[in-house]
Amino acid sequence: MTDWIALDKAHCWHPFTRQAEWTSEESKPLMLVRGEGVWLEDAKGQRYIDGNASIWTNIHGHAHPVINAAISEQLSRVAHTSFLGYSHPLAAELSERLVRFFPETTLQRVFFSDDGSTALECALKMAIQYRLQSGEEGRTEFVAFANGYHGDTMGAASLGGVNAFFERFRKFGFPVRFVSSLAELQELEGLDSVAGVVIEPLVQGVNQIHVWPEGMLRDLRAFTEAQGIHLILDEVMTGFGRTGTMFACQRENVVPDFLCLAKGLTGGYLPMAATLVREEIYEAFLGDASKAFYYGHSYTANPLGCAAALANLDIFESESTLEKLPAKVDYLAGRLQRLAEESPYVSEVRQCGVVVGIELRDAEGKAFAPARRVGEQVCVAARRYGLLTRPILDTLVFLPPLSITEEEIDLALVAIAQGISAVLGQESPDLSN
Ligand code: PMP
Repeated sequence: MTDWIALDKAHCWHPFTRQAEWTSEESKPLMLVRGEGVWLEDAKGQRYIDGNASIWTNIHGHAHPVINAAISEQLSRVAHTSFLGYSHPLAAELSERLVRFFPETTLQRVFFSDDGSTALECALKMAIQYRLQSGEEGRTEFVAFANGYHGDTMGAASLGGVNAFFERFRKFGFPVRFVSSLAELQELEGLDSVAGVVIEPLVQGVNQIHVWPEGMLRDLRAFTEAQGIHLILDEVMTGFGRTGTMFACQRENVVPDFLCLAKGLTGGYLPMAATLVREEIYEAFLGDASKAFYYGHSYTANPLGCAAALANLDIFESESTLEKLPAKVDYLAGRLQRLAEESPYVSEVRQCGVVVGIELRDAEGKAFAPARRVGEQVCVAARRYGLLTRPILDTLVFLPPLSITEEEIDLALVAIAQGISAVLGQESPDLSN
């Protein structure tokens, strides 16, 4: 039998990965071969709950018959056609279905791209070009939030507030000023040189699940509007029901100038993204050739991706996904509270809908030495109990598909509790009712 692990170690380069460790003798990477619902199966037939929704993408579970059928049907027609110079019915339909979430607003124009990074990249370039074409050449800067994450292409990386990832590239990117709160933004000097403010609304993901204060987004919208600054929302992680409403901005009745979507757009099946933009911004790009937006990718509006995205939206309706969420979110909150009470190592649980961070500290409430990599060890241990997830430092991230059931939530949290016990040596807490 082919030794896939050996081939991987010899030739693959993984994202955000210490390759020396990955390729070492002791490392035994999981080879995932199959999925069904919230479950993933490895090459040895072992099953795990996908506690990470496959990097926060999966919404309705794996191998969903409706999404599979939609992709197959489109595949039988044509897999890919150019969106440059041509169109196709599914892209037209999808753009209308997306803006329909923002009725009676001017957020009515959709630019498709490939992933979260390019959705942000596109918004940045549009924001700059808009200013250049509107007699506001002085507005060339962006403001982003400390510890935020918006992707890894150069523009998106410029917005990245995680210094460990982005510091070395800063001087090559867009000019960005960082703030850690709305109050700090309000005190910045020279706001008239700012083109746009970028934020992950309601909750920052990569920043160890950092939940913003309630009302912050609403106040940020009011402030940016008053200052003539565009509000660019990065809903790459929060979009498609994650925080309880279809989009996080709807929780605070906010309509941004740019809305960046990716990950859950196709239900987690194919790489695709969309940048929604206000019609009055779009209008500045009309006119002669010099005003056109010279930006795009080979796979822009890929028909298979559009088919998956439309099926994803259909399932929200046919399975009443959003209607079922409040009860699920409450149940999850109750179980997490129990975990925090029962485990001396869970110092804090941060939750926003089905976005959860479980922070681990020692029994005295002090952070573990980073070199111990406790979070990582706990996640590796939790695999033995049937859960796949990843930590961010010592915060365990739990972001399962929205289709997860109460029973599966229980299984996942028991696996986390057992993982913690296996690593930190406490008797496994009793999470039974
Ligand atoms: N924005 C946010 C909030 C994200 O969480 C991510 C990915 N984790 C991105 C942007 C980048 O998306 P992608 O990896 O698809 O480029």
